[in-house]
Amino acid sequence: MGRGSAPKRVQADDPRAGAAAVKPANAKMQVSALRSGTVIDHLGPRTAFKALKILGVAADATVLIGVNLDSGKLGKKDILKIEGRELTDDEMNKVALLSPQATFSIIRDFTVVKKFRPTLPATVEGLIRCVNPACVTQDPRVTGRFLVVGKEPLKLRCYFCERSLRENEIEFL
Ligand code: ZN
Repeated sequence: MGRGSAPKRVQADDPRAGAAAVKPANAKMQVSALRSGTVIDHLGPRTAFKALKILGVAADATVLIGVNLDSGKLGKKDILKIEGRELTDDEMNKVALLSPQATFSIIRDFTVVKKFRPTLPATVEGLIRCVNPACVTQDPRVTGRFLVVGKEPLKLRCYFCERSLRENEIEFL
């Protein structure tokens, strides 16, 4: 054994103990803290998977997902920790359309380097599909545009056909 020998962990009754013992430090790190990436807290309950989808997080990305966790403020909340990816302000504002109360922390080497509270933009370009089947934006060559006409609850209006979208009608592209 080398110097400063690592603490010994014996998990005799775990059939995978042999394999797990190879790198226990890494395994622990992955479940407890984020080395570098983005933590999204105070997501509305059951919005975590939708957030992953609108952020286009790859299926093989390292992500911790907490769903329906107790939260003093909201009753319930979701949490996402995305390893190795720092969301841009645009991406964070995009998540705000899904969950306006979400908060973001950018982490580098276990240190918070940026905290971000998204703001809803006055207009949203692209991102969202108009629910009106006759809307000109059903043509994929036309980029949709929505005006944010209400914040709580979120309400959008299509710039082209003036159809209003309530929060539960918002469908991300
Ligand atoms: Zn429309």
